[in-house]
Amino acid sequence: MTHIDYIKTMLNIKDDNVFFYDNCLEIVKIKGVETKVFNAYLTYTPDCCPKCGCINESSDDIIKWDFKKNCKIKITKVCGYNAIIKLDKQRFYCKHCKKTFTASTSIVDFHKQISNDTNLNIKLELMHKGTEKDIARRNNVSTNHVNRILDSIAIDKLVKNNGFLPEILGIDEFKATKDTKSKMALIIVDQVRANIFDINNSRLSKDIESYFKMYSKKERDKVKYITVDLYKPYYKLLKKLFRNAVLIPDRFHIVLQVRDALDKTRIKLCVKSNPNYKKLKKYWKLILKAEDELSEKKKYSKCFKKDVSQIDIVTYLINTNEEFYNTYQIYQGILKAVSNRDKEKFLNILYHHNKNISRYMKKALRTFKNMEEYIVNAFDYDYSNGITEGMNNLIKQIKHIACGYRKFKHLKARVMLIKGLLNPIIEN
Ligand SMILES: [Zn+2]
Repeated sequence: MTHIDYIKTMLNIKDDNVFFYDNCLEIVKIKGVETKVFNAYLTYTPDCCPKCGCINESSDDIIKWDFKKNCKIKITKVCGYNAIIKLDKQRFYCKHCKKTFTASTSIVDFHKQISNDTNLNIKLELMHKGTEKDIARRNNVSTNHVNRILDSIAIDKLVKNNGFLPEILGIDEFKATKDTKSKMALIIVDQVRANIFDINNSRLSKDIESYFKMYSKKERDKVKYITVDLYKPYYKLLKKLFRNAVLIPDRFHIVLQVRDALDKTRIKLCVKSNPNYKKLKKYWKLILKAEDELSEKKKYSKCFKKDVSQIDIVTYLINTNEEFYNTYQIYQGILKAVSNRDKEKFLNILYHHNKNISRYMKKALRTFKNMEEYIVNAFDYDYSNGITEGMNNLIKQIKHIACGYRKFKHLKARVMLIKGLLNPIIEN
C-alpha cells in the first residue's frame, strides 16, 4: 500500500476512481475554522453515455474532456478537524450526441456537497439522545440539513413489521407537536417486545380505524389483549377492529380519574374566604398520596405553627369539610383496590359509597359504571399500560432535550431511531 492508499482507507473512500494528488493535504482556514483539505481527482472510462445511452467502445464514442474543478465535499471530521475533499471531476464528451457529462462517485450523491459517509454518521448519531443542533455542529453541517435527513426517514412506511401485529397491544395518547392532526398523537405499543410499535399523527377514531385496517382481518383477529386508556369511543372502535381481543383499561388511568376528581374537590375548597386556604393550597401532594405512605414523623410547619406529621396534616384537612372527607375516602379506597387488584372492593365502592361526595368524584364513578364490563378486566388481567407510560416518558425526554419539536415527523423519526425501530443504514 502506498501512503496515498492509507489516506484513502483512513478517509473511508472506497471509490477506486478517486485519486489523490501528490501533495494532497493542506490546512486552510474556512470561515475562520481550520479545515483539513484533501485534494483529489476523479476519473475513469465510462461504460456508456448517460445522455444518449450509447455504449462506449472506443475513442470514436466517448472521449475525456476537461475537469470540473474544485468540487467541495464535506466529509466526516478528521481528528476533530473539519475536513473536506476538493475533488476535480473528469468531464467526458460524447461524440454521438455531442454533449458533455461529469464523472460520478459513490462518495457523494450527484449535485450534493455533503458526503454519504457524513449523512450516514448523522443518521447513526440521531439514534442516540441529543439535539439536532449538536449533531449538526459535530458533523459540520447545518441544522436544516439534519432536519432534511429526519424528513427522509420519517416518511410513513405505513404497514409495519411486514403486516404482522403483536398479540398484545397497548394504545395511548401523548402530547406531541403542534402540527399533529388531533390535539394529541397516538402511540401504539408492542407489549410483547416492550417496545413502540408505531406512533401516529392522529388519535381521531376514523384515523385509528383506517390505520389498523391496513392490517389484514386475519392478523387483527390474532390480537389477544389491548390495554387502553379509559375513553369509551376507543372501546367501541377497538371491539369492531379486533374481534377476539380482551380490552383492558389501564390501571394507571383508573387511578388518574379519581385522583383528578379529588384534586378538583380540593381546589374547589381553595377560596380565600376559607380559613384553611393556605394549608389546602400547600399540602396538595400529601392529600393525593396513598394513605399508608404518609409519614408519622413530626416536623415544624409554618402553616400550623407547631410540629405536625404528614398524617396529622391530612387528617386535619380532610376533616374540615364532610364532602371532602368522603371523597378522600373513596379515592384512597380505589387506590388500594387497584394496587391490590381487589375487584370486590372496587365494585363495592362503586355501588355502596357514601352519597355525600363531590360532583367530580360522582362523575368519575359514573364513568366507571358505564364501562364496568371493561373495567373489571383491569383487575382480572395482568396487562397494563406501564410500558406505554414508559414510552411516553421517553418521548417527553426526547422533546425536552430538543427543546420541543415543531414538526411531528421529526419527533417521530427520532423516537423510532432511538428505539431502534428504523435502521438508517438499510434505506427504507
Ligand atoms: Zn451521448
